[in-house]
Amino acid sequence: MAQRGVKVISVVPGGLAEGAGIRPGDTLLEINGEKVLDQLNYQFLLSQEDESALRILRADGTEFTALVENGGDGVGLDLAADEVKVCKQNCVFCFVHQMPKGYRKSLYLKDEDIRLSFLYGHFSTLSSSDGAELDRIVRERLSPIHVSVHATDPEVRVRLVGNPKEGHILRKIDHLLEGGIDVHTQVVLVPGLNDGWVWQKTLDELWARRAFQTEGPWAGKGGVLSLSCVPVGLTAHREGLPDIPDVDPAYAKAWVAAWTPEVRRRAEANEGEPWLLLADEWFTRAAVEVPGRDFYSQSWAQLENGVGMVRRFLEQTRRFLATPKAARFQGRNILLLTGASFAPILAREAARLNRKTGARLRVAGAQNFSFGDTVTVAGLLCGSDLKYAAHADREEHGPVDAVVVPSATLRTHTGPTDQYTLHGQSAKAEGTFLDDMTLDQLAADLGVPVIPGGENFSQLLDHLEAAERATGFTGKDLTRVFHASGLNLPQGAYNP
Ligand code: SF4
Repeated sequence: MAQRGVKVISVVPGGLAEGAGIRPGDTLLEINGEKVLDQLNYQFLLSQEDESALRILRADGTEFTALVENGGDGVGLDLAADEVKVCKQNCVFCFVHQMPKGYRKSLYLKDEDIRLSFLYGHFSTLSSSDGAELDRIVRERLSPIHVSVHATDPEVRVRLVGNPKEGHILRKIDHLLEGGIDVHTQVVLVPGLNDGWVWQKTLDELWARRAFQTEGPWAGKGGVLSLSCVPVGLTAHREGLPDIPDVDPAYAKAWVAAWTPEVRRRAEANEGEPWLLLADEWFTRAAVEVPGRDFYSQSWAQLENGVGMVRRFLEQTRRFLATPKAARFQGRNILLLTGASFAPILAREAARLNRKTGARLRVAGAQNFSFGDTVTVAGLLCGSDLKYAAHADREEHGPVDAVVVPSATLRTHTGPTDQYTLHGQSAKAEGTFLDDMTLDQLAADLGVPVIPGGENFSQLLDHLEAAERATGFTGKDLTRVFHASGLNLPQGAYNP
């Protein structure tokens, strides 16, 4: 049975809600006669009127209406976290289907929720969004939304998402655009399935709907803000799943050669702003240098989808090395662990830092034993993989004073699903790896501090210095010790 209303968790002392007699444990049913769906909807409904009538259900079954003069603002209620919606798809490349067995339950959740898409930039195939939900997005101005398109051709899309009802993604996108909503889009590219003419058609059809057009059918409406192309990621755990080809280095190299010029051509036709975006993984898999800053959008659109992370890191390193702060690395003897794809780039930059400052940073690309060799991104390394890599490095090169792990390997505990909450402010980063090993356990095993690296060398230095002042991190909110921007990555984000 559908949940009725939203539970009140706490009431701000002295706030309007408390003054109106609302208590923790009550359920908020309606605002001004409209059913309250969730927290975002609650905020929206309150913003519509200067005075609001809140229909409340008490735990004993009685109901009453509380009248508040809120002037369109909040009334001092903290509501229960919303249940995350799950997708209705069966994508041929679904990462959840390729997870090894035995990890905690929450990691197998096939979440797909437009609220998370709006709040955190998670991509949604829109399979759980019917017409009513699309109307809601339009009404509440939840813009932009992040949409996984994969292919605009209906037959091919059905093959990709494994759901005969979900071929017509353009109909849903057009519904949003007509309502003035902007969308960021992505294609996960599978060789032989949605490359060639399928990719060209997808690119052209989304390009025709690009945002900020002043002429044509989409002028004055919502638009497609960007389209990213991400190579498919396969793990070693595909027993019983469709046999699909991986993007190997040769394929990635050919793709980069073919589409890098097109990114620039489309940017030129889009007043200089890059619109077509290629994920970093194309370049790391092809083992070619990532392009310069002008290849990426001014706002680093789709950064958390793995677009431009490497370039941004290189830019930040260049600037950092020119600051006096860099000298504080002098004399530090540290091992930096990362995924195999980013290791050569990080090693090159660490060598520059060493030359400049007299530090002794070295880099090891950790093999992913948990998910398989084909997984080379840092974010999916488990504690056991990092432990193995650190031991192997010590045997070969000797001891270090500290070991640095990619921040993306640490889970962001953000709510009842162990992954997400719509309460952004209650997000709490804990020092736990995917396989439940903690930072402290790894540090105890290695006999040296283990530090999350943050986004760049400047943050890394701050983290090292902060760790020298702290004692153990287990159970602590790491944002109290380290930079929040270097920790609170939404799960699913690809990080080098
Ligand atoms: S890839 Fe995403 S949309 Fe597709 S089946 Fe997996 S969780 Fe669902």
